[in-house]
Amino acid sequence: MKHLIYRFLSAGINSTETKALRMMITANGFLFITASICLLAIFLNILVTGSMTIAILDAIAFTISVFTLIDLHRHHVIKRAVIVGSVNLFFLLIAFAYINQGNEFGFIWTIFFPIFVIPLMGHKKGLLLSTIFYFILFSIAYHGIGVWDNGDWSQKAFIRLFLASTVLTYLVYTYEATLHHTDLELQRVHDKEAKYLEELHRLSVSDPLTGLYNRRRINELLEEYTNKAKRYQDIFSLILFDIDDFKYINDRYGHNIGDQVLIRIAETAKNILRKTDYIGRWGGEEFLILLPKTGEEDTAEIAEKLRIGIQAIVFPETFSVTCSFGVSEYSERLEIDSLVNNADKAMYHAKNSGKNRVCIERVILQ
Ligand code: GH3
Ligand code: MG
Ligand code: MG
Repeated sequence: MKHLIYRFLSAGINSTETKALRMMITANGFLFITASICLLAIFLNILVTGSMTIAILDAIAFTISVFTLIDLHRHHVIKRAVIVGSVNLFFLLIAFAYINQGNEFGFIWTIFFPIFVIPLMGHKKGLLLSTIFYFILFSIAYHGIGVWDNGDWSQKAFIRLFLASTVLTYLVYTYEATLHHTDLELQRVHDKEAKYLEELHRLSVSDPLTGLYNRRRINELLEEYTNKAKRYQDIFSLILFDIDDFKYINDRYGHNIGDQVLIRIAETAKNILRKTDYIGRWGGEEFLILLPKTGEEDTAEIAEKLRIGIQAIVFPETFSVTCSFGVSEYSERLEIDSLVNNADKAMYHAKNSGKNRVCIERVILQ
């Protein structure tokens, strides 16, 4: 039963956005209550009080509420339902007050206006509409002093209605405004948390100096691509490269310039590589690149492009650097460690055969 009521009120929307869900439930409840009270009032007015005019008025309001309810369930446009529902209630209560002329404490119904409208339309628009509503209502009620209810509708009764309605409106407004600001504050905290989490994640996967992926992230990617390649018979390759004679650069120009060299090389390599390749700082002045869906021949070509691109950089102190590259391709028989070892072997081969070159480590199949 509870579940059914909830399903009806939420109109089947499975919203993670609590505010939207709250609005949907309030709008649905509001329309349902309006329709139910109108239906009850139709019967009461026909059978008990015999007031046909009010019964017709209630029937119109009932029909509008039911159609709005159906529309809300079909199209989920909360705003439309809220506007139609509020305007419907506005005219129903004003017309009722005018026709009923304060008989049998009929004004009691008007308290529902701010209670429904302020939470539904928002505290500002709701307050504006409630003010207009009460302005019209009080004007009508003021003219009835000493006349309505066989002259019993007195100035005192009018002031009572005025004060009670004003206090009620103010209370609902304050409650809704506080809720609105709490929502905003919660959203702000939530956004801030999401930003911190994103930053934390970025920090956990990147190298602080170059901004490239760190060794940890590259290891994760290696594992991910090895598993994928095993499963889908995919290919991928690695490039491991190391700056030649970097110790000399540090000794000659200082550690800070050495850092600038690392940053510049990282930028250059990133610009040369495709968006789908992953580059990380593997160690001090060593970088590892993972190239998905690329065989060793194409990888060697890309490594050559990197070699030429890095060599072409002229640093402000008018020196340039070279790198040595090792390439290895994934094969089913290779575990991650052997794959990286192969690239390492190829790189050392490049170092030993004169540096500033690209070498490929071919998989030896037994
Ligand atoms: P090779 O051509 O054989 O690779 O010679 P190399 O001088 O580049 O290699 P070696 O291993 O002798 O020296 C590497 C140097 O890289 C030493 C170390 O101080 C420097 N290095 C490592 N990490 C950083 C860093 O983050 N910043 C700076 N400025 N230097 C670093
Ligand atoms: Mg080096
Ligand atoms: Mg090194």
